[in-house]
Amino acid sequence: MAEDLSAVAARENVWEMAKRQLDEVASLIGLNESIHGYLRQPKRVLEVSLPVRMDNGGFKMFTGYRVQHNLARGPGKGGIRFHPDVTLDEVKALAMWMTWKCALVNIPFGGAKGGVICDPKHMSMQELENLTRRFTTEISLIIGPEKDIPAPDVYTTPQIMAWIMDTFSMQHGYSIPGVVTGKPISIGGSLGRDKATARGCLYVVDEAMQALGLPIEGATVAIQGFGNAGMYAAQLMSARGYKIVAVSDSSGGVANDSGLDARGLTAHKLETGSVVGFKGGERIDNRAVLEYECDVLVPAALEKVIARENAPRIKAKIVAEAANGPTVPEADAILFDRGIMVLPDILANAGGVTVSYFEWVQDLQANFWEEEEINERLKRVMTRAFREAYDQAQRHGVSMRKGAYCVAVDRVAEATKLRGLYP
Ligand code: NAD
Repeated sequence: MAEDLSAVAARENVWEMAKRQLDEVASLIGLNESIHGYLRQPKRVLEVSLPVRMDNGGFKMFTGYRVQHNLARGPGKGGIRFHPDVTLDEVKALAMWMTWKCALVNIPFGGAKGGVICDPKHMSMQELENLTRRFTTEISLIIGPEKDIPAPDVYTTPQIMAWIMDTFSMQHGYSIPGVVTGKPISIGGSLGRDKATARGCLYVVDEAMQALGLPIEGATVAIQGFGNAGMYAAQLMSARGYKIVAVSDSSGGVANDSGLDARGLTAHKLETGSVVGFKGGERIDNRAVLEYECDVLVPAALEKVIARENAPRIKAKIVAEAANGPTVPEADAILFDRGIMVLPDILANAGGVTVSYFEWVQDLQANFWEEEEINERLKRVMTRAFREAYDQAQRHGVSMRKGAYCVAVDRVAEATKLRGLYP
């Protein structure tokens, strides 16, 4: 099934897709033409070559990127992805989406993203540490608590964030926890950060269910991807009363119409590395998960998995984009025409960056909050963002993505205009 997804992915350039999403709302909000042109480009792109010592005693070259799309509203914020398919275009798209996401939830950050072309599944911990420390050193020119603050993304973990924090701190001679978020709690991480993306997703799905007049108890959910976003989404949604009927990861999927046991699935995934083989469900493939009969579909893996070909077969009433960029623009139009509500990535997965913001604030103040307080604040932020996007979507008669973009792009355009041109 991986071939199917990559075949779909290969046809659409993700950076072109990100720019098109911006173009589609420009006229809706009467975006000034010059500012539109300005926002279509990243502010800064850094490509680095990384010689990394490998376990066999030799060294291997890797390529990494850090892109800052727009810094008008504050320092850059965005994750770092370690994946064999990372490209500069992908990092640029992800950085642009971070700009809109931070603006939508109204936290004082601009958008950035990083990536290294590598296959962490085939590297030892020592090799990963060497790679992370060298990458941090190379991008240390442009990162820092006041400049640009990385975080985890696909195949990067709290341990990797700890190495980033340590490397940056060593270079400056003192501990600088605010340089990165998603760290382990014992070195300045925030309570609730691990589950924040999934929790934020849950909050906006709850809002959408209410807006559509659908009951939550027993509503069925299918999830593609069972990592940080997908696994916690399964756990939290199941605890809230939703019924998880299908899940998948890069090896395949499992389904059970009577409901999958989220705890059992998590234990199985942690033990075996995959959801495949879980006894409480039947084996299905990745495409089947996306097209599964359910009320809520949560794509929580990679980009461009919902395309023109499969959009007509999506059965969910709500698609909550825990992943970044899972729906291509043509598919968006099809889903909208079919009356399916898509909660766009910049809304549905903004819980992660919101609690990253809380983590950064706590680090700067050296004053840490209770988890209850964090979750309450997160709920307020997510619910407000949902309502603002929903109001715009209703007002213009457009999709939730366009509604969310109206709010976000307008905020970034205003900040960019107010700051003016230098020199
Ligand atoms: P992760 O590395 O923890 O998990 C990725 C999951 O996707 C794994 O279960 C993997 O097996 C699965 N996967 C990979 N290729 C797949 C395929 N072809 N089909 C099905 N599953 C596949 O990553 P994550 O942090 O959970 O990120 C997942 C998505 O969520 C990404 O799009 C990321 O940008 C987005 N996101 C994550 C965060 C966060 O806080 N971690 C925040 C916002 C957005």
